Amino acid sequence: MEKGQIRVQTENIFPIIKKFLYSEHDIFLRELISNAVDASQKITTLSSIGEAKGDLGELRIDVSIDKEAKTLTIEDRGVGMTQEEVDKYLNQVAFSGAEEFLQKYKDANIIGHFGLGFYSAFMVSDRVEVYTKSYQDQPATYWSCDGSPSFELGPTEKEGRGTRIVLHINQDSEEFLEADNIRRILEKFCKFLPVAIFFEDKQI
Ligand code: ADP
Ligand code: MG
Repeated sequence: MEKGQIRVQTENIFPIIKKFLYSEHDIFLRELISNAVDASQKITTLSSIGEAKGDLGELRIDVSIDKEAKTLTIEDRGVGMTQEEVDKYLNQVAFSGAEEFLQKYKDANIIGHFGLGFYSAFMVSDRVEVYTKSYQDQPATYWSCDGSPSFELGPTEKEGRGTRIVLHINQDSEEFLEADNIRRILEKFCKFLPVAIFFEDKQI
């Protein structure tokens, strides 16, 4: 008998994730906010056990849109990622950093689970860009992907700890460039979260 490992062809899996992961496209915002909340909870945990040093500053999540550039941006002041972590967490579909963190620190306030949520961004985007700076003293990292299995990864400039995710909203999803729409979705999903969420500088 032969034993083996089932392999996955990423070119074929990506479109399936994009199409069928969620039937409602507005879920992408909940997923990205959940990741931003998780990142904020992680830095709080690391700080409380002395692994992250110094004042954490205000932990808040900022959402904004730029209608002209057709972008929606989500920015947090959480743990951030080193280049190595971006490679581990974003370039490996279905690898959950949340699950890994839970096993290590048993922090019950982490939302993530299956390591798929981030990819829901591609349901509404032609391209996703990530600028991130870890709490660990390392240069900031840039990652970009157009929803195909190829990505760009390298050093960049970024002030301050945390992660900024820029979605280049696709033609079929321009409803997500409407302020009223985004505010409504945030109000629906972002009640009772442990981190303050701001849209265009107004708290939700
Ligand atoms: P999950 O949240 O289920 O682990 P996701 O696909 O949503 O899976 O995200 C994959 C991983 O990428 C996360 O577990 C986390 O390690 C990392 N990540 C995603 N967004 C952020 C962020 N805003 N800040 C720090 N790390 C992040
Ligand atoms: Mg997640």
